[in-house]
Amino acid sequence: MKVGIVGAGMVGSATAYALGLRGIASEVVLVDLDPALAEAHALDIAHAMPFASGTSISHGDYDHLRDAGVVVIAAGVAQRSGETRTDLLSRNAAVFRTVVGEITRVCPDAILLVASNPVDIMTQIATAYSGLPNHRVIGSGTILDTARFRSLLGAHLRVSPRSIHAYVLGEHGDSQVLAWSGARAGTVPVALFGAQIGAPVTDAVRAEIDSKTRNAAYTIIKGKGSTYYGIGAGLARIVGAIRQDEQAVLSVSSVTALIEGVRDVALSVPRVVGREGISTELLPDLDTHERAALQRSASKLRGLFEAVTL
Ligand code: ADP
Repeated sequence: MKVGIVGAGMVGSATAYALGLRGIASEVVLVDLDPALAEAHALDIAHAMPFASGTSISHGDYDHLRDAGVVVIAAGVAQRSGETRTDLLSRNAAVFRTVVGEITRVCPDAILLVASNPVDIMTQIATAYSGLPNHRVIGSGTILDTARFRSLLGAHLRVSPRSIHAYVLGEHGDSQVLAWSGARAGTVPVALFGAQIGAPVTDAVRAEIDSKTRNAAYTIIKGKGSTYYGIGAGLARIVGAIRQDEQAVLSVSSVTALIEGVRDVALSVPRVVGREGISTELLPDLDTHERAALQRSASKLRGLFEAVTL
């Protein structure tokens, strides 16, 4: 499957690299406002392919995206000093108006995979501009937060993160909700399993895992300015689920008709992902606190979306 990536910055190029290393796409085309940057990343990544897979990596303009099955949108502008979050959002909305318009002109049948931040709002904006049904516009959402949650739980319980079933819901950001009450190691609730193996999941352990999951991006940004490898691998995972028509359960963002009383808001819950995009969602069992936190997260996102000038 051919995959387009619009925005060949750190996230876009890391996604191309992950797609190529794992051989998930037959072809990856990078498009950027700065064609020299797209060309440089495409060449550099192409030179890794003889060690990895047969994926063809190139750069081009929008017309080169024709027949792409998925287009990843990782384009965006950085915050200016003194600029409010809402002003930044409106500037990024303007970028998306052009980008989404061009993508839907060239490949109206592609699934859109949004990575630009704030990803939930940008997913809702992309859905509005594209005119596509909600299930064909997917945001990376909390896929990475969920991976961080699982790996911290796995380390504590000495179980592979792949055998931990746990999700981060809501906003990819500060109001995210770690769904502890449904978290399982295999089929066993994590608290029960922790007690069985002498690694109790105490309040202090929960607080530490919560904080490390929630604040991981801040730690990375403090050390190197931005995060990209993790999200690049997460985006490649989503593309893989689409390409293989996998019907994989992934925590991704999408405009949701109704959640905890909030209407039409993009946020993450576990969703089934395959060739046609999202087929259904599976809201895990939540306790009263988690439901209230998810309601707050949904209200916050809906409020932010309403403040954007489309
Ligand atoms: P990140 O770390 O999120 O990847 P970057 O600044 O490295 O952030 O990448 C964002 C990329 O988006 C930049 O390479 C920039 O040139 C690109 N970009 C910005 N506006 C547009 C646009 N209208 N069309 C295509 N690419 C764009």
